[in-house]
Amino acid sequence: MQKKEILQSIPAVNDFLAAPEAGLLIEKYSRKEFLKVLREELNKIRSQIINSRGEIQKDEFDYSSLNIKIIINNLAEKLKLESNVGIKKAINATGVIIHTNLGRSVLAKEALNKVMEVSENYSTLELDLKSGQRGYRSKKVKKIFKDLTGAESAVVVNNNAAAVMLILTALMRDKEVVISRGEMVEIGGSFRIPEVMENSGAILKEVGSTNRVYVKDYLNAVSEKTGAFIKVHPSNYRIEGFTHSVKTSELVRVAKKNNLPVIEDLGSGIIFNLSEYGLPDEPTVKERIEAGIDILTFSGDKLLGGPQAGIIVGRKKYLNQIESHPMMRALRVDKMTLAALEETLNLYYNFDEAVKKIPTLKMITEKPENVKSKAQQLLNKIKKVEGLKIELVKTEARVGGGAFPVSTFDSYGLAVETGTKDIENLVSKLRTSKNSVIARIQADRAIFDLKTVRSIQLDQLAASINKAVSEVF
Ligand SMILES: *Cc1c(COP(=O)(O)O)cnc(C)c1O
Repeated sequence: MQKKEILQSIPAVNDFLAAPEAGLLIEKYSRKEFLKVLREELNKIRSQIINSRGEIQKDEFDYSSLNIKIIINNLAEKLKLESNVGIKKAINATGVIIHTNLGRSVLAKEALNKVMEVSENYSTLELDLKSGQRGYRSKKVKKIFKDLTGAESAVVVNNNAAAVMLILTALMRDKEVVISRGEMVEIGGSFRIPEVMENSGAILKEVGSTNRVYVKDYLNAVSEKTGAFIKVHPSNYRIEGFTHSVKTSELVRVAKKNNLPVIEDLGSGIIFNLSEYGLPDEPTVKERIEAGIDILTFSGDKLLGGPQAGIIVGRKKYLNQIESHPMMRALRVDKMTLAALEETLNLYYNFDEAVKKIPTLKMITEKPENVKSKAQQLLNKIKKVEGLKIELVKTEARVGGGAFPVSTFDSYGLAVETGTKDIENLVSKLRTSKNSVIARIQADRAIFDLKTVRSIQLDQLAASINKAVSEVF
């Protein structure tokens, strides 16, 4: 009978509700949320008692596990964790501009306003206003890409992985696609080029070695089964030393001679050359089209600075086939994505406007002195606490998003040392704080890189740091 007696001594829900600590949690999270986690917790305690082996001796039972204050304390932890589960805004103090875990590119105001406008109203998504007939959802995007890159056509899908998948499914089923072994890339989040290709029904024909590939390797691979050559941008790694790759112009020449299209998965894709601002001197999308690449794909939310999307540009004869494939319907983008993409692209007609208004480009081109001044402003807002050491330091910011892994930007930030206190605890408190501040730890110091923090976020960032510090010390 011992179990029954112990079960009877579990406090009732009303006893919990009467505790002042419960009142605070209800105020913070709502009564409904509080009752939900309370019932879960009480059920857990009950089943632990019921399922325990044999009888529990009454004097052996740890009654503190039934203490109202202790249980409410556990509930507070649980509620805090659960309230952090959904998507919410965060402050990116990592210095990684296109941070996949943090949502990649921040959208331009213009793009956001357009999303609002077409979402809170009906829109002309698929209506041709002149004829009153059904229109096409990516008409404007096609025109803009034609203007910006000279491409004959453009197609927009859900993301770049979908773009690669769709191209191969629509054009390369049961055909051999020739790829260099040095470009068999894994992008992260389990996206492996070879696996995508296999799933599309294309047959992978690997040529060359990991570090060296020659034009003759591509040539030797050509047979009546060959459908295309594909190039994949090795976005997230670099092979250095004894290497050889095939120039785009060479590859295009050989492909043309054999009547084959060249497909290129660019990953990031740039509209403007930003080498002046620390990015590698890479050909733009326009230059690649001019070099004769037939079909190009890239992401909407990497260096382009727009919403998540996969963009395919290139020759009309291929893109028409891609667009009319049944899979297109499953991969098409919604009106919010399209609105954000159109408005982001509109800004590209003018270089100065683009780098001023598209946050990703703005961060890339922001001068180090400006970043330093933000770091100084933040430093001035941090309260002095005994045992806490803060320094303004030089840092290295990165593009991220699997793009240009070896290039860095000169940047500035704050390095915070907590002496005897656990630095991991501070960084974790900041992550789970109201503003979700994401910083990194380097050599036992928390580093706040200001390259990815906007001026208007400085007060919030300082408040979060001050609060977390006060909790740790
Ligand atoms: C990032 C990347 C992808 C995947 O793009 P998503 O838009 O995330 O689907 C594919 N290929 C390359 C080379 C990339 O860098």
